[in-house]
Amino acid sequence: MLELNNVEVIYSDVILAVKGVSMRIETGQCVTLLGGNGAGKSTTLKSISNVIKTEDGKVTAGSILFDGRRIDNGEPENIVTHGIIHVMEGRRVLKHLTVEQNLLIGGHREPSLKAVRAKLDEVYSEIGRLAALKDRTSGYLSGGEQQMLVIGRAMMARPKLMMIDEPSLGLAPLMVDEVFALLARLKASGMTLLLVEQNARVALELADYGYVMENGHIVLEGAGEDLRRNEDVREFYLGLN
Ligand code: ATP
Repeated sequence: MLELNNVEVIYSDVILAVKGVSMRIETGQCVTLLGGNGAGKSTTLKSISNVIKTEDGKVTAGSILFDGRRIDNGEPENIVTHGIIHVMEGRRVLKHLTVEQNLLIGGHREPSLKAVRAKLDEVYSEIGRLAALKDRTSGYLSGGEQQMLVIGRAMMARPKLMMIDEPSLGLAPLMVDEVFALLARLKASGMTLLLVEQNARVALELADYGYVMENGHIVLEGAGEDLRRNEDVREFYLGLN
């Protein structure tokens, strides 16, 4: 479904943040991109969604293909039309709007109000918590609830591929489990997921395949299970051994 070939990303013509990254995601897979701070994970996602352009960055080498078509260096708003949604780091809810209003924004490309309503009901049945909170002002939700809201809003756009940046960041352990249970349900429903995470434990439990990034490079890759057993991953990313 998605293929990155030797992708290089530069910010402001000077900072080389991604240095020849290649990766693949097959339809229905959950793939995770792990690595420490500043490794280039978010930049990789931004290069796929073209959000990179809004930060004075660009893909200067390599290619990105989605369903066989080149998508690198297009316009960020076109990416949703291709079927890719990028849930950015930091839970960007529209704080003054209610939960339902936030969700409706995600469904703005639906052909009719009836279709929007149907999709909304689907999201509410998948994420019961949001149904209970639908009239709440989003800014007052907890971090975990906001995370579920941005995932729900992404679901409203019926993506083929959902990319999520650091869903567990700053959440209490129980909330992390709840958010990942939701991601597991999405995966079970056939959604293709690309997940950037610093919490390697939860990410590798869910992922079919993982890549580890350091300093702009992929330094390790393998099936989720193999990475969980890998000595370096256990030591540096899982804090085991
Ligand atoms: P984190 O988990 O801390 O967000 P990351 O692996 O996602 O880390 P990136 O955010 O992709 O890493 O950053 C990769 C490198 O690019 C870092 O050196 C960072 O300082 C730099 N960088 C990121 N965004 C910009 C930007 N808008 N302009 C210039 N440099 C940037």
